[in-house]
Amino acid sequence: MKSHGYAALTKSAALTPYNFERREAGARDVVVEIAYCGICHSDIHQVRDEWGGSMYPMVPGHEIVGRVTAVGGDVKKFKIGDLAGIGVMVDSCRVCTNCKADLEQYCQKGFVGTYNAKGYDGTVVHGGYANNIVCDERYVHTLSAKFEGKLAGVAPLLCAGITTYSPMRHWGAGPGKKVGVVGLGGLGHMGLKFAHSFGAHVVQFTTSESKIADAKRLGADEVVISKDADAMAKHAASFDFILDCVSAPHDLNAYLKLLKLDATLCLVGLSEEQLPVAPFSLTSYRVALAGSNIGGMPETQEMLDYCADHGILSDVEVVSVGQLGEAYERVVKSDVKYRFVIDMATLGLRA
Ligand code: NAP
Ligand code: ZN
Ligand code: ZN
Repeated sequence: MKSHGYAALTKSAALTPYNFERREAGARDVVVEIAYCGICHSDIHQVRDEWGGSMYPMVPGHEIVGRVTAVGGDVKKFKIGDLAGIGVMVDSCRVCTNCKADLEQYCQKGFVGTYNAKGYDGTVVHGGYANNIVCDERYVHTLSAKFEGKLAGVAPLLCAGITTYSPMRHWGAGPGKKVGVVGLGGLGHMGLKFAHSFGAHVVQFTTSESKIADAKRLGADEVVISKDADAMAKHAASFDFILDCVSAPHDLNAYLKLLKLDATLCLVGLSEEQLPVAPFSLTSYRVALAGSNIGGMPETQEMLDYCADHGILSDVEVVSVGQLGEAYERVVKSDVKYRFVIDMATLGLRA
C-alpha cells in the first residue's frame, strides 16, 4: 500500500517528506486514513536515537486517529467510515501468559511497536506521521461518536492517555488518596486529569512556574515548584502514590522521600540516563519504586470509553507538518501546552 509522510533519515537531520510502501491489507486488517497524530516525547527520543538502536528511515508517530477507508473480509469491529485509533503497539504474540492476560504491552516475545520496529516477519513498520496506516483490527481501537469533531484532542489518549490511566488505576488513585504527578507535559497533564477525575487529592510537581495556573485549571489541588526545597519538605512522607512523567535526568530521591509507609513512586518517564537511588530513600518507609509501560488493548479501549463518557480530552496545540522541527524544539524546552498534534490534512498541501 502506498503511503506518504515525514521521516527521520538520520538521527540529526530534520524530518523530511517521505514516500514508502506498507504491506497490503489482509483479511483481518483495517486501513485508516490518518486525521491527526500526536507528538510524543518518545518520538523525539527515538528520532534522535537517545535510547540506542534506532532504525532509519523512521516515520514516527503512535498517537493515531482517523477514519477507516478499507476493511478485510474477516474484520468484525469496523466498517468503512468508522472512527479508529491506533497507539503504541500494532502486534504481539497473542499466546504468552501476559498477552492472554490482556497485558500485551508486556508480551514475552516483545510486542511490535507502531514504528522504529520490525513485524514478526522481519519487515520494518512505520508510524503515524503519514496519510494512512494498515493494522490488524485486534490492535485498532473503536472511538465513540462523542469524539466526532474533537479528534485532535483524542489522538494523545492513545499513548499519553493510556500510559497515565493504567498506573493510576493499578495503584488505586481515588477518593482519600494523595497522588502526585511529576512533570506537566503530555503525559503529566493527562495523569493530572485522570487522578482528579478519579477523585484523588492531586499535587502537581513542576519545574515551570509559568504552568502553575494551568495545573490548577487542569485539576491540581496543589502545585509545588520542585526546585523549592522548603515547598518539597512540607510534603515529606505524605503521598500514597506519585507518577513520574519526566523525560530527562532528575533526582528520584527527592520524590521517594515524599512517600508515606508502603507507598509507590512509579516511573513512566524514560530518561536516556540512569537515575541513581539512595537505599535509605527506599528503606525509611518501606516504599516501592516501580515502572509502567503504556497499557493493554482492553484497558486502552476502557480508557478511551471513559474519556468519551467523562468529556476528557488532551489539551493540544495543532501544528502542520511544516512545523515539526519547531514543535520538537518546544517539547524539549518543556514548552508544550500540553501536547502537539499534527493535522495530517497539511500533508496533502505539501505532498
Ligand atoms: P513532555 O511532554 O516533554 O513532558 C515532560 C515534562 O517533564 C516537561 O514538560 C517538564 O515538565 C518535565 N521536565 C523536562 N525536563 C526536565 C528536567 N530536566 N527536570 C525535571 N523535569 C523536567 O514528554 P511526554 O511526551 O509527556 O513524555 C514524558 C516521558 O515519558 C518521555 O521520556 C517519554 O519517552 C516517556 N513515555 C513513556 C511511556 C511509557 O509507556 N512508560 C509512554 C509514553 C512516553 P515541567 O515543565 O512541569 O517541569
Ligand atoms: Zn508515546
Ligand atoms: Zn505475548
